[in-house]
Amino acid sequence: MKKEFVVIGLGRFGGSIVNELVELDAEVMAIDISPDRVEEYAQIATTAVSADTTDESALRSLGIRNFEHVVVAIGENIQASILTTLILKEIGVKHITVKAQNDYHEKVLRKIGADQVVHPERDMGKRIANNMVSNNILDY
Ligand code: ATP
Repeated sequence: MKKEFVVIGLGRFGGSIVNELVELDAEVMAIDISPDRVEEYAQIATTAVSADTTDESALRSLGIRNFEHVVVAIGENIQASILTTLILKEIGVKHITVKAQNDYHEKVLRKIGADQVVHPERDMGKRIANNMVSNNILDY
């Protein structure tokens, strides 16, 4: 059986996760409040839905509870990111990964039970710097 995931927020980060999961042969439900963003992923994701994920009944009606892993990739709207994470936690989603905008955001996300908090720009910068140094060590 294929693995099933939900990605909320289809900006550059969320969109890239959707593309990669599909590439890896997973089933993906892609959600965004913006119908235009949803339209962009209608042909890519298994299901693409327009919904405000800070609305608990909307999330419940999508059957989110049945998915093991949900990614919250809402960036700038920190309030929406926190509220969405809280609702997912209350619904009982087992694994929640959230994109944090800053350290304060991360602290709140961890307090409310996010399982994994990522800072894509910071994490990628760190990784590239590490690769640069280890390549240098190998090269010289
Ligand atoms: P990136 O850097 O990955 O492009 P970003 O940090 O600029 O993302 P935003 O563009 O602020 O992040 O948010 C990502 C997406 O989340 C947007 O497409 C936005 O429409 C969506 N979004 C924001 N609020 C909600 C919400 N309440 N429910 C669902 N989607 C939302």
